[in-house]
Amino acid sequence: MIFTPEKYKIKDERMKPFIDVEEIEGYLESVRPDRQRVLDVIAKSLDKKRLTLEETAVLINATDPDLIEAIKDGARTLKKIVYGNRIVLFAPLYIGNKCINNCAYCGFRAENKDAIRKTLQQEEIKQEIMALEENGQKRLVLVFGEHPEYNADYIAECTKIAYSVKKGNGEIRRVNINAAPLDIEGFRKVHQAGIGTYQIFQETYHPEAYKWYHKSGRKADYNWRVTAFDRAQEAGLDDVGMGALFGLYDWKFEVMAMVRHTNHLEACYDVGPHTISFPRITAASNNCIKPEYEVSDEDFTRIIAILRLAVPYTGLILTAREPAHIRTEALSFGVSQIDGGTKLEIGSYSESVNLDQDLNKEQFKINDDRSLNEVIDELLEKGYLPSFCTSCYRMGRTGEHFMEFSVPGFIKRFCTPNGILTLAEYLMDYAPEHTAKKGWEVIARELKDLEDENVRNEIEDRIEKIKKGKRDLYF
Ligand code: SAM
Ligand code: SF4
Repeated sequence: MIFTPEKYKIKDERMKPFIDVEEIEGYLESVRPDRQRVLDVIAKSLDKKRLTLEETAVLINATDPDLIEAIKDGARTLKKIVYGNRIVLFAPLYIGNKCINNCAYCGFRAENKDAIRKTLQQEEIKQEIMALEENGQKRLVLVFGEHPEYNADYIAECTKIAYSVKKGNGEIRRVNINAAPLDIEGFRKVHQAGIGTYQIFQETYHPEAYKWYHKSGRKADYNWRVTAFDRAQEAGLDDVGMGALFGLYDWKFEVMAMVRHTNHLEACYDVGPHTISFPRITAASNNCIKPEYEVSDEDFTRIIAILRLAVPYTGLILTAREPAHIRTEALSFGVSQIDGGTKLEIGSYSESVNLDQDLNKEQFKINDDRSLNEVIDELLEKGYLPSFCTSCYRMGRTGEHFMEFSVPGFIKRFCTPNGILTLAEYLMDYAPEHTAKKGWEVIARELKDLEDENVRNEIEDRIEKIKKGKRDLYF
């Protein structure tokens, strides 16, 4: 049968599911790109245009080693022209691992009797936040299992606590959330509490595979999850982070589906996702996964390059689930945010929270256990500008990645200056001498590269203020 895309196109409607398996499979099976077509698609992306499903399939189905290299090169170029040198840093904070669901891959699932359940008490959350602040963190993502206790009111309360705790010069300036999908009212509440991004990963977009991994609990409802960002948008929360858990189903399908999800949000709400995450599954306590979908390192770096080109204006997040060498490679062609100093055991950032000596409290294993400063050290070594910037969302510049991408000079006017100022704060407050030395060198180079003398003078002026004790100066 000949694949006729028009036949399969689902009309995008608010709050309605939008994934058509036959449409995605149809593209993957029918698109056979020649060399020129692949190069044309890369050129379209470098021209700062989001790719269609068909064009994404062109990149996915390009298997010649030199074409794969061309895709990676394209991603590197795009990363340079859109995002500059800066890499935004954050840390996850696990608040509680009670869970009513049974996701086959996750150590927190209800049926895993080996998991010790813990929810941080208010005082413990404060201790954890202080410990994170003492390391220099400014941006957090609070992570929750799915449980009636972790409702919208509770998430809002945890958010407010996180913003309220100050230790020395430390403070949390942006709280993102990774938790179960809420209803419209719930999204409104957490939005009012001042959260940044609400992250929800679809895990797998393939409905049959989804059913297999999520046999019971609230999460078994595929449609409730896939329409979650629609409800967020209806509630006025336009800052959402999507993701798929790679290793559950065919990676090609998941990449196509995330582009489809992006199209849906653009079609209905005129705004795409703020970030895309693409965690690869890692070992977890008693987890159950299908080895045939395991994603090799080689395919994983291809996935990142393809996503970079397919959705050029969206931030890409890579976490400590990945080993340091993959993280380093991924940075060069597209990742814009990473975590540093990550600990997943609940209550493990501070020494004062009482921990059982049992690692089963972790949701899964991490592969990069370097401290925040070690991560920063390496970024500086490689010439990146580590940034703790939280300015856009506090200045009401939402849809920030879109602006970075489309507004001429946006990066030079806002992102680089704010990256420099937040790095200067870090160097003054938290960095050991060897890191500070490298950091000031990177700042000097970034300043030199700025074309606008007025902007340069203004930043230099503010750095002097930071050296004299002022904090939180942003553009
Ligand atoms: N409970 C909420 C949910 O499921 O959406 C949010 C928190 S859950 C702890 C965050 C994410 O961790 C999940 O969306 C899933 O993608 C990821 N995850 C679960 N098990 C994992 C594993 N074994 N390896 C890597 N990531 C995993
Ligand atoms: Fe619970 Fe989330 Fe883990 Fe599923 S992924 S078992 S919902 S914590």
